[in-house]
Amino acid sequence: MRWVRTGKEGSVPTVRPAARARGRPPAARPRAPARSDRTSPSLPSPPSSRCSALGSPLGESLLPWPEGLRRPGHRGPAGRRRALFQRQPPSSRFKLRREIAETGKMLPSLERSCTRPTGNPIRRRRKVPPRVPRPQSSAARLSVEKPAGVAMGLGLVDCHCHLSATDFDNDLDDVLEKARKANVMALVAVAEHAGEFERIMQLSERYNGFILPCLGVHPVQELSPEKPRSVTLKDLDVALPIIEKYKDRLLAIGEVGLDFTPRYAGTDEEKEEQRQVLIRQVQLAKRLNVPLNVHSRSAGRPTISLLREQGAEQVLLHAFDGRPSVAMEGVRAGYYFSIPPSIVRSGQKQKLVKQLPLSSICLETDSPALGPEKLTRNEPCNISIAAEFIAQVKGISVEEVREVTTRNAFRLFPKLQSLLQKELQSHPLQAKSAQGSTGESKGLL
Ligand SMILES: [Zn+2]
Repeated sequence: MRWVRTGKEGSVPTVRPAARARGRPPAARPRAPARSDRTSPSLPSPPSSRCSALGSPLGESLLPWPEGLRRPGHRGPAGRRRALFQRQPPSSRFKLRREIAETGKMLPSLERSCTRPTGNPIRRRRKVPPRVPRPQSSAARLSVEKPAGVAMGLGLVDCHCHLSATDFDNDLDDVLEKARKANVMALVAVAEHAGEFERIMQLSERYNGFILPCLGVHPVQELSPEKPRSVTLKDLDVALPIIEKYKDRLLAIGEVGLDFTPRYAGTDEEKEEQRQVLIRQVQLAKRLNVPLNVHSRSAGRPTISLLREQGAEQVLLHAFDGRPSVAMEGVRAGYYFSIPPSIVRSGQKQKLVKQLPLSSICLETDSPALGPEKLTRNEPCNISIAAEFIAQVKGISVEEVREVTTRNAFRLFPKLQSLLQKELQSHPLQAKSAQGSTGESKGLL
């Protein structure tokens, strides 16, 4: 490119296409002009220090450094012209550039650049990568990716939920319908105190073969929401006759356990009384030959130790909050661990699942608590969120998680099979298993 003087000193320098723009690193080189425009293909590169001229909003540096033109500070006539041009107010310079462009004599690339009021046309614009949508929360992603209602293989067993909670008073039918659509085949409904035993038994009657009852006394008695307190032997005395009354219909004893959260069990006496209540319920479960549905909070190791000492064999530790190494003691004892949908927001649960063998994992929701989102009512239909997340953590298919956890539930709760017999008989896996020669067990086990 040559600068030729076309007007008075101080007027606009006009460019005439005389050379191609060059001297740029390959990435920054403008598109080569047509061959016909190249009149001087081997011009020397402009000084690299020219970069210092970049950055003006109107792009004084849009024009390649002209051949033979000295830089400012070494001004010859052309340099002076250029300096004069640069002293023009930006609005004039823009106008001037437009005029230059309108002459039609410029290289196409420069023409483009001069008609653009801002930016640096020679320096190729940085490619902006396409906007990637922010990843959704795990819970949202999972529920979107796999509609909960897709029925695949065996149904799911929610091994621990509180369907007698007042949260479900108004819409339990809808909640259960959603659970069915989410491929939940059985809901293990647990109790916390004697006051809800009758309600649970009524529900298990009304939804026979779908809601399966567990009665037990929880280590924290929340008879009124304002005054939760540690359990006493008196609470158990009230509960035991009712449990005896319904013993033949119970799937398990629960929810029982230890909760050493300081605000519930601040003293050694309270902890000891919790232990005594648990020991008596372990003995009861052994006598009735039913499993235990166990709560443990801030008491993972004491709970597992007590259960082992008492010879408990059929145990589900729900929403276990202890360390994985402690949980492995339970695994060695043959205990199962049920995982709620809150795993999506709990690093502790994720670590636990990583460590636990799939053969020791069951699914639960603990509805209305422990949902994928804090402070939002949890429902049994969310169980597939737990299944999907376990699959992700373990790097296996969700189908495998569904099938294995359901089989685990059948092993853990021996009565489950007879209670669901009718439904299972129609399932292909049931028929296949029945024909099998393993002899391990009948049906699904
Ligand atoms: Zn619970």
